[in-house]
Amino acid sequence: MSTNSEHALVDIQGLVKAYDLLPILRKLDLTIARGEFVALLGPNGSGKSTLIRLLCGLSRPTAGLIRIGGWELPKESAAVRAQIGLVSHKPLLYDNLSAIENLQFFGRLYNLSGSGLQAHIQAMLVKVGLAKRGHDLVRTYSRGMLQRLSIARALLHNPDILMLDEPYTGLDQDASTVLDGLLKEAHADGRTILMTTHDLPRAAVLPTRVIILSRGVIGYDASASGLDALSLAQIYANVTSMVSAR
Ligand code: ADP
Ligand code: MG
Repeated sequence: MSTNSEHALVDIQGLVKAYDLLPILRKLDLTIARGEFVALLGPNGSGKSTLIRLLCGLSRPTAGLIRIGGWELPKESAAVRAQIGLVSHKPLLYDNLSAIENLQFFGRLYNLSGSGLQAHIQAMLVKVGLAKRGHDLVRTYSRGMLQRLSIARALLHNPDILMLDEPYTGLDQDASTVLDGLLKEAHADGRTILMTTHDLPRAAVLPTRVIILSRGVIGYDASASGLDALSLAQIYANVTSMVSAR
């Protein structure tokens, strides 16, 4: 993409992440502009979750630069995290608390409180379709409901960027369709979205841009406009087999 690095919301330069000298990300350069909805694709082990963790300040780069909204990681990680809502593999919710209690807990972590927080929590629960189940313990929730509550949690502090790591994994058709709607709405609200997924049909239609990570480098990066499920599946097969054949 032709995003100018100076104006990028996410600016990654020469990013290297190695575990025990084994490089997982090899000098990655990537910029994401405000308002983009990026699908991050790639085979298992290609480094998608590693990249998300680095961008959230949960892991430190071996080398390279990460700047988000002008703030630099790792030294300004609090300012970076304030701009990011994360929906990871794990729901990051307390089983023995109700949905409302979970959101109150996370709200306080973000220094939100009082009647403003109560009203906000209620509005978030309505948004994700859980208003009637707000007082139920989270351990009684289905996978789809957990995913929706995770999104409410991730959006509670009104972050500019929403990052989701394989949010469709384990969801049935109905729950996936509900998630489609929530992501479209978050994007329409002006949020920038970075989502890893193995769901190629969705990656072809939902996002504005598709990136394929393969063996620690970006093997493909293009606008999603005009893509369909079949052409993306072909591109994906070409990019991932080309790199693994090296
Ligand atoms: P993806 O999310 O694309 O499936 P990951 O980012 O989870 O891939 O992992 C990329 C590679 O990094 C894998 O080979 C994985 O084993 C390795 N890896 C991830 N986290 C660690 C860690 N904490 N220590 C050692 N190796 C790790
Ligand atoms: Mg992963």
